[in-house]
Amino acid sequence: MARNNLREVGDLNDCLFCKIARKEIPADIVYEDDDVLAFRDIRPQAPVHVLVIPKRHIASLADLTQEDKDVMGHVTLVASRLARDLGVSEGYRVVINCGKDAGQSVFHIHMHLLGGRSLGWPPG
Ligand code: AMP
Repeated sequence: MARNNLREVGDLNDCLFCKIARKEIPADIVYEDDDVLAFRDIRPQAPVHVLVIPKRHIASLADLTQEDKDVMGHVTLVASRLARDLGVSEGYRVVINCGKDAGQSVFHIHMHLLGGRSLGWPPG
């Protein structure tokens, strides 16, 4: 299993966000195309809290390779467009938690798009 950054063989079957991408688990989807999906976070931390993911399984930012450049550029563009479409273009934050110490709890790379309230800095 060299490709797709699988931490173990079971990842693709077990991955929560892969299941959402395959529509095996429901989600409040706000954007979808062939390669990227965006859905509302189940425990929103701001009035707008959307997760933007590549449909293809990539475990984390630390696992990116050259092959992932296009899809991660695409993820970023979708987040930018959604910020405008969801009405938070006055100020919002995109976050990718990478690894356990940063609070990554789902090991399928995702960009949080947070907006609709004042956001403190530095983050906790
Ligand atoms: P992270 O902690 O950066 O890995 O972010 C994972 C995010 O996924 C958290 O903000 C969770 O609230 C969110 N989450 C977990 N399960 C679901 C789900 N079934 N649908 C939508 N968001 C989810």
